Amino acid sequence: MIPKSFIQDLLNRLDIVDVVGRYVPLKKAGANFSACCPFHNEKSPSFTVSANKQFYHCFGCGVHGTAISFVMEHLGLGFVEAVEELAQSIGLAVPHETSSAGAIENKVAPDLYELMQTAARYYREQLKQSPIAIDYLKRRGVNGEVAARFGIGYAPEGWQNLRQVFSDYQTVSLLDTGLVIERADDSAEDAAEQSTARRYDRFRDRIMFPIVNPRGQVIGFGGRVLDKGTPKYLNSPETVLFEKGRELYGLYQAQKSIRANRMALVVEGYMDVVALAQHGIEYAVATLGTATTPFHIQKLLRLTDRIVFCFDGDAAGRKAAWRALENTLPQLVDGKQFGFLFLPSEHDPDSYVRENGSVAFDQLLREAMPLSEYLLSELSSQVDMRTQEGRNALLQRAQPLLTAITAPIAALLLRKELADLAGITQAELEALYGMRSIDLPKRRVTQKMASPAASNLRALLRCLLFQPDLVSLLPEDATAPDWLPADWETSGMETEAIATLIVWLKGNQEKVSTAAIIQHFQDTVYAPLLAKEQAEIMQWGDDFKAADEFQDVLQSLRKAQRKQQLQALHVKMHGAGMGGLNEQDRALYLQLLQRS
Ligand SMILES: [Zn+2]
Repeated sequence: MIPKSFIQDLLNRLDIVDVVGRYVPLKKAGANFSACCPFHNEKSPSFTVSANKQFYHCFGCGVHGTAISFVMEHLGLGFVEAVEELAQSIGLAVPHETSSAGAIENKVAPDLYELMQTAARYYREQLKQSPIAIDYLKRRGVNGEVAARFGIGYAPEGWQNLRQVFSDYQTVSLLDTGLVIERADDSAEDAAEQSTARRYDRFRDRIMFPIVNPRGQVIGFGGRVLDKGTPKYLNSPETVLFEKGRELYGLYQAQKSIRANRMALVVEGYMDVVALAQHGIEYAVATLGTATTPFHIQKLLRLTDRIVFCFDGDAAGRKAAWRALENTLPQLVDGKQFGFLFLPSEHDPDSYVRENGSVAFDQLLREAMPLSEYLLSELSSQVDMRTQEGRNALLQRAQPLLTAITAPIAALLLRKELADLAGITQAELEALYGMRSIDLPKRRVTQKMASPAASNLRALLRCLLFQPDLVSLLPEDATAPDWLPADWETSGMETEAIATLIVWLKGNQEKVSTAAIIQHFQDTVYAPLLAKEQAEIMQWGDDFKAADEFQDVLQSLRKAQRKQQLQALHVKMHGAGMGGLNEQDRALYLQLLQRS
């Protein structure tokens, strides 16, 4: 866990204009900066960055957030990764509160990245000098441009080539990168000599595919033999830099295209990714010798709503597809789409696109099988659906899969379909599996409050966003301020949001910035509402007198409340005057009259 105070501190020290400017060229536009939005395609800039308030907002597609959310979105990083990345960029160390599990964060020595970078450069140079390797790539249809895009290189034959590259071939760091291997060998006399004799390059006579993290740093390599030889593919071992289950080959290069095409394609091998890119399909990534993991899926879902898995047409490919399906089910989110594409059994994506071209591949993509269809057809193909025993087996095999789904709509539809298929009702299915029937999320009540309260509350929200310390103008004990409707918890989003915001602001010891508010409420139900108000305050000049506005709005809210209360009392008094009121009401009435 990263302490909340650190997040606020980080946001205070960062300059969002610098952070965004590293990836997107920003132009000054009045008090703000603008650019063509990196998250949607556009010709005129509607992506706006506020230097004063440290957040961004796109008036085209509505993306918004802080420096942290920008890095998460743009690089496809998780929250912790993004915070670490940003902290590192300004020389801050991220403190970690030890969680109850006592997780230990591993520290990556920065020089390991440099070693990897140096090795990648060396392999690229070697490729230029190796006609055999160049010829191999040409035969596979890879041109120089695509080879450069992926930083493809060549590790020549020989056991200790890296000795020429690194001044200290014996350093422990080199072993830590996985670039060299040490073999147990006791024949040498002393320890130093032993180590020299034992150490050798991991990659020899292989085409080298650097594995790059979303920040563009080389964290590992995949090496493929030129012709014969085993193993055909050799990956870097797991190191502090490289965790197979978390990385995807080609993601760094594909990010932009994944966003632009609104889809990601998951394939099995580096050559698939490279060959597809060669044919203009640049949104493919590959797993690194592992099954598709939940991490992979989460990573891609941050970039796009549609993922298509395309594995080889052979038995191993089918098995990989099923594993991907199993790992996808718990990650299902309504509104996200998953497809499965099965190639003819003699093909992999590389060979298919080389033989049939990108148009044919594109057509296949469009016909990819939706997840639900794949799940049900695969399960029912394993049993004899004509018999009761077959349907029985189907229901048994489907149980763990259906139970894994938490997305309400997806779960509902699949239960219906499966029940139909097995010839029972949905209720029977749920009873059989011991499942609760699905509560679809209730549509949030966003009824407009009796105006003008809603617009007033929005104005108040804007003021607090613009200048969070205005909260000090509210009475000390205001948790649900008295000018909020008594039933504020249920009376609409504006009231609920503002009450929650006030409670949060008052609970903060330190001075809170606009960016800190946005960051804190990023994943809450209030985010869309706040986003609208953020867009508004983008237009406010630095000299905007938020305090005056805040006081005005407060006053008009109080007035409106007074009017409402008086009206209610008048109803009670109808025909009976003060006699119609109990003691409490009478006191309130007198109080309200004085307040006029
Ligand atoms: Zn946009």
